[in-house]
Amino acid sequence: MRRKLAAGNWKMNGTNASLTELQALIAAHPTPQVDILICPPATLIVQAAGLSADSPLMIGAQDCHAAASGAHTGDISAPMLADAGAVAVILGHSERRQDHAESSTLVAAKATAAHAAHLTAIICVGESLAEREAAQTLDVIAEHLRHSLPDSATAANTVIAYEPIWAIGTGLTPSPAQISEVHRFLRAELTARFGAEPAQGIRLLYGGSVKPANAPEIFALADVDGALVGGASLTTAEFSPIITALE
Ligand code: PEP
Repeated sequence: MRRKLAAGNWKMNGTNASLTELQALIAAHPTPQVDILICPPATLIVQAAGLSADSPLMIGAQDCHAAASGAHTGDISAPMLADAGAVAVILGHSERRQDHAESSTLVAAKATAAHAAHLTAIICVGESLAEREAAQTLDVIAEHLRHSLPDSATAANTVIAYEPIWAIGTGLTPSPAQISEVHRFLRAELTARFGAEPAQGIRLLYGGSVKPANAPEIFALADVDGALVGGASLTTAEFSPIITALE
């Protein structure tokens, strides 16, 4: 049985003042029936991890370097994130694939580094609007999945997030049938590569304009094990009902 996961991605948002949102989130969900993860900017990981240490709230990061240490000015390694208190890291988000020209091969190298540092890798895959309109969605997903997932991936250390690029921050969401089609495809691809039992254990998140209003319909779909939430994870007022919908 896969435990559901509500993961929040704060992106490049948040200062010390935002930690009050985490306090409110912890207070609102003292004994959650699902896993709750917040990935704040790297500047807040130490404080966030300290604040949530005695609570079920887990803290993650938004990226890591593929190397454990070295001459990489401005970068942060997976062991550093673990040392700061992170238990997971988002990898291959479409904003990093676009803004930093990250390839699936690089994402796989980062995931290998994350696994070596005992971090859960949340690996993002998803098509652009042009790719969907050209009926290339499943081809793109297959490429992302095949090349972004290292052989070290297991149900315990890897989560896949399906995030159609055109749904991120736009208020647009795929239809339930479109989400189901991709999640079914992801499960089949994972089964072909890792075998039925490991593949059954890997959690599949949907991400892209998840809000309190659409969360129940999305979470009712088979093979949707939770959500990766951007904008709506910034405040407890919006994120809390999404968690409740998942429970
Ligand atoms: C995201 O960036 O991972 C995301 C899903 O953003 P939003 O929920 O704001 O669409």
